[in-house]
Amino acid sequence: MYDFIIVGSGLFGSVCAHELRKKNKKVLVIEKRSHLGGNVYTEDNKGISVHKYGAHIFHTNNKDIWDYVNSFVEFNRFTNSPLALHNDKLYNLPFNMNTFYQLWGVTEPGQAKKIIESQRQELNGKKPENLEEQAISLVGKDVYEILIKGYTEKQWGRKATELPPFIISRLPVRFTFDNNYFSDRYQGIPIGGYTKLIQAMLDGIDIKFNVDYLQYRDEYAGLAKKVIYTGSIDEYFDYCLGELEYRSLNFEVLELDTDNFQGNAVVNYTERDIPFTRVIEHKHFDPVETQHTVITREYPAEWHRGLEAYYPVNDKKNNELYKRYRKLASEEKNVIFGGRLAEYKYYDMHQVILSALQTVTKL
Ligand code: FAD
Ligand code: UDP
Repeated sequence: MYDFIIVGSGLFGSVCAHELRKKNKKVLVIEKRSHLGGNVYTEDNKGISVHKYGAHIFHTNNKDIWDYVNSFVEFNRFTNSPLALHNDKLYNLPFNMNTFYQLWGVTEPGQAKKIIESQRQELNGKKPENLEEQAISLVGKDVYEILIKGYTEKQWGRKATELPPFIISRLPVRFTFDNNYFSDRYQGIPIGGYTKLIQAMLDGIDIKFNVDYLQYRDEYAGLAKKVIYTGSIDEYFDYCLGELEYRSLNFEVLELDTDNFQGNAVVNYTERDIPFTRVIEHKHFDPVETQHTVITREYPAEWHRGLEAYYPVNDKKNNELYKRYRKLASEEKNVIFGGRLAEYKYYDMHQVILSALQTVTKL
């Protein structure tokens, strides 16, 4: 008998498992993949820590969360400064004075503001209601056309006019020469990889790998008083109200016989015709001296059953359907739903950790 069964060994499940064990609860983690960590999982490739499910950069403004993750593993001082490639020209991200200089040759913030202001006129003061309008309102038409439209439409498989504004508001817009992709106070990558962080959280906890809880739920649910479920919420209810939409990804991993392929951890490809959105070169996240390098190209894809769900599509239609699933979830006795898939939320890692800590406190 266990006090808790935790479905999923991603960050949400692992934080809950760790905190509950600290409170002397008996916990079993069930994971359908063959490894722990969910999407933050990293694996070693001859000294290079490879982010198996795409680039993961930890960032937060919350000192408690930063201290919390640092209590398990030491973090390096990595700062994400991605580049965007468009028509063979490189631009700095996020949108800042370096980007505006590269685009328009302007050297002063006032000049950049003037250009953006004039390009924003086409909105006629209208409150932005979709991603396209939000982007034009923030950075003007040129930045939208060159750095946002193509990337966004391939990433989400939908027109920018059909996407919610909040997706683009994740990125800072600055009138300083600062290429830091995040404005948070704390940022870094666990030295030795995220797998070390999750292993430390799950130390001493029973885990079953390669088991899909939903296939054996009667058998397992009987083993514990409560279940914490971190998989997709619609899958839990056998899609009885219909499918929520997600975006999936295909990762193409290449081991190359060169010590430095692109000179930066992340390069975005913002042209619509190039099928991948970004190329990451893993060794630049946690620098090591090796003769070889490993890169991953990220190809977005529409999700269907059988594929991994990576991004919830939080538009109006899906959010309403999620609310109906949420109601079913609230009627489910002794099951707590949490994490990016169960809460159908575009959560970053620090937000998932906070949500898991709050869940355990409530319990
Ligand atoms: P997950 O990591 O998805 O874990 C869920 C786990 O549950 C998985 O291991 C899954 O196999 C398991 N599971 C599901 N269903 C079942 C079942 N039926 N039975 C058994 N096991 C099951 N955040 C950042 O802060 N910074 C970044 O740079 C960043 N980059 C990202 C890049 C990409 C490409 C993606 C997709 C996400 C990124 N994120 C980033 C977000 C981050 O990955 C998530 O916030 C976090 O990993 C979510 O943790 P989770 O536990 O909710 O979900
Ligand atoms: N985005 C863009 N161009 C870029 C980078 C991002 O248009 O070069 C947009 C795109 O819509 C993306 C969103 O900004 O989905 C958020 O970007 P972020 O890098 O936060 O995405 P994630 O790392 O979560 O995939």
